[in-house]
Amino acid sequence: MADSTTEKKEVPENLLPGEERTEDRLLPDQALSGQSLPGQFLPEQPMAEEFLSVRPAADRLFKDQPEKDLAEKETYMSRALALAKEAAKDGEVPVGAVLVWEDGRIIGEGRNRREKDRCALCHAEMEAIKKACRTLGGWRLHKATLYVTMEPCPMCAGAILNARIPRIVFGAPDPKSGAFGSVLDLNAFPLNHKTRVEGGFMNGECSLILSEFFKNLRKSRKKEEG
Ligand SMILES: [Zn+2]
Repeated sequence: MADSTTEKKEVPENLLPGEERTEDRLLPDQALSGQSLPGQFLPEQPMAEEFLSVRPAADRLFKDQPEKDLAEKETYMSRALALAKEAAKDGEVPVGAVLVWEDGRIIGEGRNRREKDRCALCHAEMEAIKKACRTLGGWRLHKATLYVTMEPCPMCAGAILNARIPRIVFGAPDPKSGAFGSVLDLNAFPLNHKTRVEGGFMNGECSLILSEFFKNLRKSRKKEEG
């Protein structure tokens, strides 16, 4: 049945593949329908509009994937947050990651260990992926969801695609090096794999531990200088 609200929309030529017009973004019916974002996203996420403006096109590729239960997502993101807090205690930028197989098993966990391991590769996502590959005895994580407290950087985003992870849920957007929408969107490149991205989930808590960490860091540096 024809409906005036579902009229065909013109896509301006100056948009990137998958990008939507500003007025098409963040409409509640759109944000809450299909596979887009959890209902919690809008009230909890002050940066939602800015962030969603670069929401990856991949969302549309996974419309047939069943949406996970919100409570389940909270459970896994809370675990990732606990790992991030462990990292903060050790003086690491607090980022935590959890990889969950389709049956609900946690197959790998990780947290940032750059300082401790003195290695630029030791991001939370990399550790979780490494452990998951060991758990499964293979590199294809094609039935896993990655929960991570901060938007992955280009290195981790590349690893996520290489591991064939079909879905990621992240908390805080990273305006300095986020590779799933903030600085660049790896999904928008013609690579042979894409991942469905849900950003801004539990962003309030995920952002808070980061901002507190950097606030404390600045304080202690001031003390040292003074
Ligand atoms: Zn990273």
